[in-house]
Amino acid sequence: LAYLAWLLYAMRLRDLELEALVAQRTSEILAAQRHLQATISAIPDLMFEVDLDGRYYSTHSPREELLARSSKELLGRTVHDVMPQAQADRVLQALQEAHVKGWSMGAQICLPLQMGERWFELSVARKASATGEGPRFVVISRDVTDNKLAEEKVLQLAHFDALTGLPNRSLLADRCQQALGAAQRHGQCVALLFLDLDHFKNINDALGHRVGDALLCAVAQRLSGLLREQDTIARLGGDEFILVLPDTDAVGAAHVAEKLLRAADQPFDIDAHELVITPSMGIAMYPQDGKDFDTLSRCADAAMYIAKQGGRNHYRFFTAEMQADSDRSLLLENALRRALERNQLYLHYQPQVCVASGAIVGAEALLRWEHPELGRVSPAEFIPVAESSGMILPMGDWVLQTATRQLREWMDQGYALTMAVNVSLVQFRQADFPQRIGQILQDAGLPPHCLELELTEGVAMTDPALAIDTMDRLHQQGVLLSIDDFGTGYSSLNHLKKFKVYKLKIDQSFVRDIADDPDDRGIVSAIISMAQGMDMRTIAEGVETAEQLAFLQDHGCMEVQGYLFGRPMAARDFGALLQAGPLTMPVTA
Ligand code: C2E
Ligand code: MG
Ligand code: MG
Repeated sequence: LAYLAWLLYAMRLRDLELEALVAQRTSEILAAQRHLQATISAIPDLMFEVDLDGRYYSTHSPREELLARSSKELLGRTVHDVMPQAQADRVLQALQEAHVKGWSMGAQICLPLQMGERWFELSVARKASATGEGPRFVVISRDVTDNKLAEEKVLQLAHFDALTGLPNRSLLADRCQQALGAAQRHGQCVALLFLDLDHFKNINDALGHRVGDALLCAVAQRLSGLLREQDTIARLGGDEFILVLPDTDAVGAAHVAEKLLRAADQPFDIDAHELVITPSMGIAMYPQDGKDFDTLSRCADAAMYIAKQGGRNHYRFFTAEMQADSDRSLLLENALRRALERNQLYLHYQPQVCVASGAIVGAEALLRWEHPELGRVSPAEFIPVAESSGMILPMGDWVLQTATRQLREWMDQGYALTMAVNVSLVQFRQADFPQRIGQILQDAGLPPHCLELELTEGVAMTDPALAIDTMDRLHQQGVLLSIDDFGTGYSSLNHLKKFKVYKLKIDQSFVRDIADDPDDRGIVSAIISMAQGMDMRTIAEGVETAEQLAFLQDHGCMEVQGYLFGRPMAARDFGALLQAGPLTMPVTA
């Protein structure tokens, strides 16, 4: 009995120990569960347990609105029940991958939720499965919508023009490269078309940037509307557009260009303004003109430039001739970059002579460039290159400084004359141009009326308001202004009246044939009497013969310049000419 009692006691004791152990374990498990629950609650992402079919077994969501359905509705349903087919398939793929590898990361799906579209990135881990249970997975679904939007914004900024929403150059280059690849595989042509709006700057200046911008958007929209789906139109900035037309031959490209010209015929209604703007276009063809985007766009650009020179509002195809030109201008541009620092630039001076007295009353400074390999390059050739590359600015400053210093020297030797310096439109349009001139005169120690700036009629054409303002400022400073090559640029008299121009330089093309072309005689005499009526001086350039001089003299032209009196020459030779004193007029050839 005692043994039995002992046995019962021992058993009871063991039960108690076991109970205590169980209680301890249970509380440990509960604590771990609470810890896990708290951990899960702290996770800002959605969490699901699903099987290989995408059936939900449990869900966790910090924000119910991020779920495709309420948590309760999800349980027991599969991903295919609650999301669009494509997205559900994407989830199953990720589960399949995790089933094989143990995990899957990075799959992204976009879900249409009540709050709008949201992007989620999935991380999937395979769960060690309990016996008798199929494979289970824990899926963490992170809301990456904000990142995605930021990413899209960056993409948008990197590939699209902010103003018009059109592709930008980089996206276009990409699309063009694709089109060229396809064209090569299928033996097709591709056309690249450069389009630039004529005189767009006028609209911007006259009506303001807001109207200019609105016009650009309207143009972009109208042009896009004319294209096929496979075509791309991009804005390069400013008023420049570029079009890539895949599978298009020259005939097709010409057809598109005609269509674009016709479309531009219709005025644009912007802010109660009826605006008409014409395009100029250049076209390059793959494969004839180039094999890659850069070459083709350079060719199309060159053709567009020629189209503009040819009177605007039309299109030109790239030709082999332009090829030679553009190779040469590239060569010149590179060589010109070093010209100033390598002392390859110098000035020649050509005398300007008073018809009445034969005295040298002025000198025109003419820029010269001598390159060790290219030899002497004519300013008629390199000035346009310097202008389009912006190099004309430092070069122009150098010309002004050198010419004014030279004049100071001659004045110090007792000669009274003006120095005429050619000023390019690019220089003239600098906002601080009058100040620069003031500074240069001060540095040379010259009174302002000794300097005459030769402008071309283009000054008046592109931006009259700004031109008038700049000219007024220069005039107030006392600097003299003349219009070079007068008669070639269609200036209206009306414009001229507003300009503080003191002298007209009659273009040499009219002077050349004075002797036998009655039209030129008519033009020259008309210019002279017109100038007299407006109180302006006149100078004829390119005077080579005594006959020409005689005609000019008879018609009251005040000054002359040309080979008859002296070619452009080095400063030393000019000094010698000054020393020799006035020429006897009329000069006999
Ligand atoms: P431009 O200002 O009309 O200069 C007159 C041009 O006619 C000069 O050509 C001159 O050498 C040439 N010439 C002078 N007399 C005669 C003549 O009797 N017969 C003929 N056939 N030609 C004559 P150049 O020096 O080749 O300059 C060409 C153009 O380059 C200039 O035309 C001017 O527009 C531009 N240029 C020259 N130097 C400069 C400069 O420093 N700055 C700027 N922006 N342009 C310049
Ligand atoms: Mg000149
Ligand atoms: Mg001239």
